[in-house]
Amino acid sequence: MKAFTYARAKTAAEAAQMATATPGAKFIAGGTNLLDLMKLEIETPQHLIDVNGTGLDTIAATPEGGLRIGAMVRNTDLAADTRVRRDYGVLTRALVAGASGQLRNKATTAGNLLQRTRCPYFYDTNQACNKRKPGSGCAAIGGFNRNLGVIGTSDACIATHSSDMAVAMRVLDASVETVDAGGTARTIPIADFHRLPGNTPQVETALKPGEFITAVTLPRPTGGTHIYRKVRDRASYAFALVSVAAIMKPDGVRAAFGGVAHKPWRVEAAERGTDARSIASGTFAGAKTTPQNAFKLPLAERALASAIAEAQA
Ligand SMILES: Cc1cc2nc3c(=O)[nH]c(=O)nc-3n(C[C@H](O)[C@H](O)[C@H](O)COP(=O)(O)OP(=O)(O)OC[C@H]3O[C@@H](n4cnc5c(N)ncnc54)[C@H](O)[C@@H]3O)c2cc1C
Ligand code: SF4
Repeated sequence: MKAFTYARAKTAAEAAQMATATPGAKFIAGGTNLLDLMKLEIETPQHLIDVNGTGLDTIAATPEGGLRIGAMVRNTDLAADTRVRRDYGVLTRALVAGASGQLRNKATTAGNLLQRTRCPYFYDTNQACNKRKPGSGCAAIGGFNRNLGVIGTSDACIATHSSDMAVAMRVLDASVETVDAGGTARTIPIADFHRLPGNTPQVETALKPGEFITAVTLPRPTGGTHIYRKVRDRASYAFALVSVAAIMKPDGVRAAFGGVAHKPWRVEAAERGTDARSIASGTFAGAKTTPQNAFKLPLAERALASAIAEAQA
């Protein structure tokens, strides 16, 4: 691991200021992703800003009838919150499907959104990877890509985003709140927060350098029956091959998919009725698969059909 300096921020604004003042600085929250990346020298920040003391660890009702989740709320606490369990069940289900109990005790809301891909070539510094080293190529295209993306991919990168929580937040139409070094706050709809890889797969979100996430806001509860279905190679402690966050209401189903793209994948225009085949075919129009990962398309449709059947039952 490369040497780095370390400081603690006491407020969100101070964190953003510190990040802008020190080029190459990174925030550290739970550290469950960043420290692994630093040990492998995939991320080599010169300065770490510990944001655990910023006090952003509460979940509060909003005047609009939704919930505002502080950036430092741990995944365990978010999943267990009685309001989340009652009104946003898909979020609790997605959270508890992720990682392990110990990891969820440390992992934060902001850190989870910003976790990096699990593409095996991204983690292997001997391999070409445009995301890790822009312009170096992509060993996954033409390599072992069974776990990788089937839609929204590019010639530069076919990685997927690996968060379960983000998929549920996408189906719930969450918003990400941020502050920059000048103290300017902004709100980014979750649909626009994660980017597709295009020619710059190293740029993964809409955040500007030094911009700090303060909270994630959920709108008023949608009602309906909430299901999160995660399909993986073993029953626990594994990332999704395909996942679906579904909200079933009398007039139809909302569905966001994980494990298929560089961001949680949802096509609202395809959400008509409750026929999984029709919704999946609209959602995955334009998909580009490889011989190894083509199975994800029928798997996504079946995962949705299974979620709909469970909700109807
Ligand atoms: C073995 C293992 C299995 C896992 N399995 C799953 C799984 O099945 N499903 C799943 O969804 N996840 C899984 N994870 C990933 C886990 O959910 C993430 O590591 C965790 O959510 C990251 O949160 P953190 O607070 O620890 O982030 P950190 O590691 O502290 O930070 C991650 C990134 O977020 C940035 N950051 C943190 N806070 C802020 C902020 N407020 N504003 C701006 N930037 C910020 C950091 O600079 C860093 O770039 C797994 C992880 C491991 C190690
Ligand atoms: S798919 Fe993306 S993350 Fe994986 S090797 Fe290619 S560029 Fe790197």
